[in-house]
Amino acid sequence: MKYKCNICGYTYDEKKLSEKFNNLKLAWKCPDCGVPKTYFQEVTKSERLKKNRAVKGQQYSQESIYIEVNDDSCSIERQSDLCVLCGQCKDICKKQQGVCGYFDLNRIAKKSICIDCGQCTLACPTGAIRLKSEIENVKTALNNKNKIVVFQIAPSVRVAIGEEFCLDYGVNCEGKLVSALKILGAKYVFDTTFGADLTIMEEASELIERINKKGVTPMFTSCCPAWVKFAEVFYPEILPHLSSTKSPILMQGAVIKTYFAKTMNIDPSKIILVAVTPCTAKKAEIRRQEMDASAKYMKNNTLRDVDYVLTVRELSDLLHEKKIDLGRVAEADFDSPLGRASGGGVIFGNSGGVMESALRTAHYMLTGKNVDNIEFKEVRGLKGIKTASAKVGDKMLSVAIVAGTGNVRKFLDRIKKGEHFDFVEVMACPGGCVTGGGQPRLGAEERKQVYKKRAEGLYKLDKSSKTRFAHENEDIKTLYSEFLDKPLSTLSKQLLHTSYTDKSDILGK
Ligand code: SF4
Ligand code: SF4
Ligand code: SF4
Repeated sequence: MKYKCNICGYTYDEKKLSEKFNNLKLAWKCPDCGVPKTYFQEVTKSERLKKNRAVKGQQYSQESIYIEVNDDSCSIERQSDLCVLCGQCKDICKKQQGVCGYFDLNRIAKKSICIDCGQCTLACPTGAIRLKSEIENVKTALNNKNKIVVFQIAPSVRVAIGEEFCLDYGVNCEGKLVSALKILGAKYVFDTTFGADLTIMEEASELIERINKKGVTPMFTSCCPAWVKFAEVFYPEILPHLSSTKSPILMQGAVIKTYFAKTMNIDPSKIILVAVTPCTAKKAEIRRQEMDASAKYMKNNTLRDVDYVLTVRELSDLLHEKKIDLGRVAEADFDSPLGRASGGGVIFGNSGGVMESALRTAHYMLTGKNVDNIEFKEVRGLKGIKTASAKVGDKMLSVAIVAGTGNVRKFLDRIKKGEHFDFVEVMACPGGCVTGGGQPRLGAEERKQVYKKRAEGLYKLDKSSKTRFAHENEDIKTLYSEFLDKPLSTLSKQLLHTSYTDKSDILGK
């Protein structure tokens, strides 16, 4: 059997190389261009697919086989000549994500609707549909002596990037990542898990305020930008239910370019902030016009809260290009003061993690005591919709966790039919950020097992953390006492909260 690399055309001939292609380790790479084995396709299968589709193409247009990608998308792009018309991108977008198939291209002047989740880039067998790279921008910044390049690393990156360097599934690479980024030229490396703790402080406070003052409930989480866009386009009526708290990378960005820059006496316009994330939708999120809190605060219109996003796959490519082997670098600590985090912040990367962490802190805020049963196992796991009851202070809250925007459609139908909830977590990807569109690609048969390992890696880290509560993070306490005052203060609202817009008009109805 022969397998062909869909990027450079290298052919793996099992006869000549005397090892079955399917027996090669996942970390095996194309010897010519270095892409993972998931970019290879069995030669005969690829040819058969093309042939079949060419015949069927006489009965329907190609448009009905693959998804359209807009030229101005900042998250994904499509290279037509690599496409074998297999239709897998469309299947994922429609069935799992609930996007494709829920609008009429003819009505919207052929401009496709996309929530930037990147799940199609994981499904495409040939790399014809892929994420849009910001590597060159980051390289330019690193080569500019007048700029200070700062990186922040999102929670789920640390348990997945090792796969690109032949390390075990789920192994924690945070110390190695700090070293590798410093070798690359970073001046400071911070942990977005700090931003996750900050999100929890604000979100738990907002939840309590909404419940106590009989505000709009159920409150939905808002840290997933693909879910936010999905709501803005398809369910604008739900927007008042979305928490106004920003996502961790944007909170961290606003704090780095204001508080950190002031504390260190750095001109914020010299800082180029790169967020390393599992997520393609973050590329769109950092470009939302609402994400200009540091510009407003510092009265400097040139500032953006976060400048670039590198997904796990992009950072791996950059490290490989620079011959930095994550497996061989020493470990180093995150920089201070935005590098310390709680276990509650770490589990943000898992479906159910935001909910679990928010409930830990909401309980403390209501009672002044930490909850006895820290681990809220009912909200864990890869099920698309999970529901549970949670005791927070003297209140019994009805909570739900929804993963995959396709499941949001089913869940919102349940609410319409009268089911009651107080607090709902939504993540666009099927198992939260550990399964994000910018994470390492996997074969369909191993996905579930590897996703589980990544999630376990984060739960293990939470368990071994010095503190497991966002409200016990000493750096968070200092940030409030020295700068923000308290959660939901005027400055907290200015820097850490945002707003949403009804975008349903793009459906052309
Ligand atoms: S990024 Fe997500 S929403 Fe956009 S086309 Fe791909 S699967 Fe669909
Ligand atoms: S998954 Fe890739 S190869 Fe298959 S139709 Fe979509 S773009 Fe083409
Ligand atoms: S679940 Fe996470 S990785 Fe996926 S789109 Fe949302 S924020 Fe991004």
